[in-house]
Amino acid sequence: KEELNIIQGALELRTKVVEEVLTPLGDCFMLRSDAVLDFATVSEILRSGYTRIPVYEGDQRHNIVDILFVKDLAFVDPDDCTPLLTVTRFYNRPLHCVFNDTRLDTVLEEFKKGKSHLAIVQRVSNEGEGDPFYEAMGIVTLEDVIEEIIKSEILDE
Ligand code: ADP
Repeated sequence: KEELNIIQGALELRTKVVEEVLTPLGDCFMLRSDAVLDFATVSEILRSGYTRIPVYEGDQRHNIVDILFVKDLAFVDPDDCTPLLTVTRFYNRPLHCVFNDTRLDTVLEEFKKGKSHLAIVQRVSNEGEGDPFYEAMGIVTLEDVIEEIIKSEILDE
């Protein structure tokens, strides 16, 4: 029974798209690019429990420009009040973006290639007067795809 479920979940990767499984931007723990890595901010990051934190510019949560890995904080002393930009510029982690209509089997292949196990999900926005532009809708990780295969929540450590 369990096996059948997993097989079905695996087959469904070909029909589902990332938009159906993403963590919406509103639920994402993110940092502003002008944040300072003082004690309060570092504590908040550690308390969030996430290993990768998207970084957005200005007040535009839709405009994700960087990604901070929590391990990048290993050499950061909160007493130095280091600007977040100093750290993200140093590590310069690649941003892995996918479109909202990308199939789950495709994104799984990309994750397997090992670039990054977290992708920013983008869509084209036609809102407003100006030209259409790309806008982040949320994030999808390898864990989200695996949950679709096994069809149950993976509880975090
Ligand atoms: P982590 O290693 O940080 O626990 P996972 O890749 O295991 O992240 O993902 C666990 C779940 O948490 C997934 O549903 C993913 O979409 C979500 N997630 C990952 N990073 C964040 C974040 N910064 N804010 C909110 N949700 C996140």
